[in-house]
Amino acid sequence: MSDLNELFVTGAQAGALCERAAGLPVVRLSARSLSDLELLAMGGYSPLDGFMTRADYLGAVQDMHLSNGEPWPMPITLALDAGEAASVKEGREIGLADEAGRPLAVLEVAEKYGYDKSLEARNVFRTEEEAHPGVAALYSQEDVLIGGRVTAFGLPAHEDFAQYRLTPAQTRAEFASRGWRTVVGFQTRNPVHRAHEYIQKCALEIVDGLLLHPLVGETKSDDIAADVRMRCYEVLLANYYPGGRVLLSVNPAAMRYAGPREAVFHALVRRNFGCTHFIVGRDHAGVGSYYGTFDAQRIFEEFAPGELGITPLMFDHTFFCRKCDEMASVKTCPHDSEARVVLSGTQVREMLKGGIEPPIEFSRPEVARVLIEAMQERVTPHHAI
Ligand SMILES: [Zn+2]
Repeated sequence: MSDLNELFVTGAQAGALCERAAGLPVVRLSARSLSDLELLAMGGYSPLDGFMTRADYLGAVQDMHLSNGEPWPMPITLALDAGEAASVKEGREIGLADEAGRPLAVLEVAEKYGYDKSLEARNVFRTEEEAHPGVAALYSQEDVLIGGRVTAFGLPAHEDFAQYRLTPAQTRAEFASRGWRTVVGFQTRNPVHRAHEYIQKCALEIVDGLLLHPLVGETKSDDIAADVRMRCYEVLLANYYPGGRVLLSVNPAAMRYAGPREAVFHALVRRNFGCTHFIVGRDHAGVGSYYGTFDAQRIFEEFAPGELGITPLMFDHTFFCRKCDEMASVKTCPHDSEARVVLSGTQVREMLKGGIEPPIEFSRPEVARVLIEAMQERVTPHHAI
């Protein structure tokens, strides 16, 4: 299993560091940088030991590798505005705080550098169009990057999903205590339908356990809210999954919508959480029509066998087929589209908004009810009653 690089101190060490931070210039982090700090601190971004310096940044952007040769496809950077950056000196320390100003970590500033946003956009997102939410986030970022080692003495406060927030060390320990030697990770930011369930269970047929790891950090405003997605998982697990084979936990990461690059990134993060396998579906982490359907699967061929330390499991389009009379995929079903129960995202949203449950072949009724209830809450504000 790959090494876990936790950047977190506790007890007396944490107290001393917190005291030192009080005397340092403090930078308040955005929601996105805060989730990066959280993942860095808990080892979710191993082998990274902080926000990237220029060599690692350029390596990640241009070549999907860090300066030490390790694979890493996503820039993990801390951007400051020119005013803030002016007060930051290379070789000195700064404190990193949450949005309320509560200090959480100390960063040893190794390097302060400018960067080319269009180069990053082209390489990471494969487009410079600002209609792409990842590119828009990048272009709205401040202009100076600060790189250096991070040591955290606190984690961002969360009021939601407390029982599902496990660090990589905790998920690894849980897998070990359950005797799982092989574990498949499933990333999602969408509600769960039969097609996802089928893919998860196909994967579970060949490994010991399943880590359902929905992303609950920042997503697009039109994505379904994380608490609704979590309720869908809870009812699905309670009714259709063997409890001893599944662990539901949340990933505090923000979505970047970088498609292929993000698929590799998602895989590496799940490796750090202790997974041996990772599910990559069609258009993984994509948005709009920026990426080809299988780009997020093909990108794994650009890495040497074994290099990533986690095995991707690739899945094609899945659905219920009335002629096969079971869940299937375009790989396994010979029938035409009329036999297949396929609904577009828009169709499903319209049905749910109208209080109509999608066909049982498409969604489990328990899940459909959670989604309908959530949609109704949105259209009927509580104060109207
Ligand atoms: Zn069929």
